[in-house]
Amino acid sequence: MKTPTLPQVEQIPETLPRTQLLAEPDSNTDVLIVGAGPTGLACAIEIQKAGFKALIIDKGCLVNSIYRYPTNMVFFTTPELLEIGDIPFTTSAAKPTRLDALEYYRRVAEHYHVDARLYEWVKTITGEDNDFRVATSDRHGAIHDYRARKIILATGYYDLANQLEIPGEDLEKVFHYYREPHPYFDTDVLVIGGKNSAAEAALDLWRHGSRVTLVHRGAQIHNHVKYWVRPDIENRIKAGQITAHFNSTVQEIREDCVVLRTPSGRLRLKNDFVFALTGYHPDYDFLRSAGVEFATEQMRPVCDPETLESNVLGMYVAGVIVAGSRTNEIFIENGRFHGKLIARHLAEKLGGSNPNFPLDAT
Ligand SMILES: Cc1cc2nc3c(=O)[nH]c(=O)nc-3n(C[C@H](O)[C@H](O)[C@H](O)COP(=O)(O)OP(=O)(O)OC[C@H]3O[C@@H](n4cnc5c(N)ncnc54)[C@H](O)[C@@H]3O)c2cc1C
Repeated sequence: MKTPTLPQVEQIPETLPRTQLLAEPDSNTDVLIVGAGPTGLACAIEIQKAGFKALIIDKGCLVNSIYRYPTNMVFFTTPELLEIGDIPFTTSAAKPTRLDALEYYRRVAEHYHVDARLYEWVKTITGEDNDFRVATSDRHGAIHDYRARKIILATGYYDLANQLEIPGEDLEKVFHYYREPHPYFDTDVLVIGGKNSAAEAALDLWRHGSRVTLVHRGAQIHNHVKYWVRPDIENRIKAGQITAHFNSTVQEIREDCVVLRTPSGRLRLKNDFVFALTGYHPDYDFLRSAGVEFATEQMRPVCDPETLESNVLGMYVAGVIVAGSRTNEIFIENGRFHGKLIARHLAEKLGGSNPNFPLDAT
């Protein structure tokens, strides 16, 4: 018997057509931005709005730092305070998750057709105002050259972890970034630090079956720990579920144990893994190699606070690096406005080609 043929139905696409990010090679731009974090993105958008051509280069993926945060991280900040480019950010829960933020910034980049070259590492910046040269290397090792009239450095602080400078820190079992608890089930884990990252990692590890010891050089869990995390960690410590040593430091890490210096003397603990979550700092060497100078205190880059132009004419600093070592002073909530400050200055200097650009937008 002949099989009846079904009427032809038009194939329904799995997803709606989407705008794609620009990808064609381009070596000349008005403004080259190093770093595709929330700040770099906000800068590109504001510069485009001011009528200039902006190009972002990032050594990793889009919003690389947020991508590398703990997998199940929940922001402290409510979504509207993370918005850039006047694009609303709404979430069903009061606080956005890391995944919400990744989705949001990706959509914003698409919406504004941000020209971002990802997985390209900016190695050197030479030249001068109106004629900067930027050399990058991509993940295949190929070198690329760009020319730009202006430069914005928005390189963040999350790539370089503060080191403990103790023996054993370079062992494979020692991490400076925490992602997920599963691999550490039924193991002895030491968490070093007393701020958000350490408190959250300790709780997550404990909840997923690790035996957790927390070591902090301070006398207690830091005051700035998220208001819903602090009582949780303090109660786990009180209940003896997480062992905590305050006013204590790690002296040495060995393959099978750690040695602590505590107020009651030296302590040797059995250990499988160590999370040293003691903060991060900007890449001062890279910034210095571009000619940026630093104030002696707190390693803040020298810049005009009104325009964010650094001591190098035509080179701007933006985002968390503006705060130097005080990385808790500038975050997405306030760094997201740096793009507007810089775009306004550029419009004044270069004569903004977009008459609609509001010079008073801050
Ligand atoms: C766990 C955690 C939770 C946080 N929660 C909050 C919160 O709730 N609210 C809030 O406002 N802030 C929060 N922050 C802080 C916030 O994430 C940072 O302040 C913010 O990411 C800084 O943005 P940025 O664009 O300046 O730098 P980043 O987001 O770090 O972006 C810098 C980019 O530069 C790139 N880069 C660096 N060097 C080079 C180079 N040489 N060449 C090419 N690319 C380069 C990096 O790959 C990176 O993508 C949190 C931080 C952490 C670690």
